[in-house]
Amino acid sequence: MNENTANKTLRIFLTEFDEGLFGYDVQILSDAATVGDYLDAINAFQTDTMADCIGCDGCCHERVPLTIADFCFSRYYQQDNGDKLAVWLAEVADLQFFGEAVDLQIKHKPNGACYLLDEERKCCSAHLHRTFACRTHCCLPRSERADALRGVIINSAEDDLVRRLLLELAADGKSDFIEGESRLQAANPDDYINAFANRPPQDWAQTPLIELTDGELWQELLKD
Ligand code: SF4
Ligand code: SF4
Repeated sequence: MNENTANKTLRIFLTEFDEGLFGYDVQILSDAATVGDYLDAINAFQTDTMADCIGCDGCCHERVPLTIADFCFSRYYQQDNGDKLAVWLAEVADLQFFGEAVDLQIKHKPNGACYLLDEERKCCSAHLHRTFACRTHCCLPRSERADALRGVIINSAEDDLVRRLLLELAADGKSDFIEGESRLQAANPDDYINAFANRPPQDWAQTPLIELTDGELWQELLKD
């Protein structure tokens, strides 16, 4: 069995779902497992197991949710020392609503491609600054619990980005990250609180997975 145990708090491993159908699964080994451990393990699994994506841009035409981690990965934060979510989002984000829920996703070109995709070379033009969703996407089927864990991390980290944006906008007397718009006037930051709120934004990786998952999913993730 091909698996990665780069850290001892969780394992990500190749498994056979049905005859000849391989995918990956995740098992939690310790209550101390964090979002950063998850990212490290999936990166190591990709390095050990997956072919690279050269010549394919299949998933760079899909919706890519933005998260608080992506602000910290961004060129704006890392190189320009920027500290305003609104300034960064004005450059990188499309705003949508699912019902009343705010959805921040990466900007797309009119043809549906991510705005960072180099369409000629079929590769990411900002590999070092790509999103958490891009970093944790493996071109393999995943188990139900692996899918649920990735979903809960990304959704929670997106909610934390929305919450921090709404607080920043309120402090600056604004209701949108685009000048002259007010699309976020009705949104309430309290609706987006989760465990990512318990530490400064740059410490997102230290968020314990146990604080993001409900009891049922956690029990599933602990199973052998
Ligand atoms: S993850 Fe898969 S679909 Fe996406 S670019 Fe790589 S090979 Fe293509
Ligand atoms: S950020 Fe890069 S890897 Fe992610 S969807 Fe855009 S082009 Fe693709």
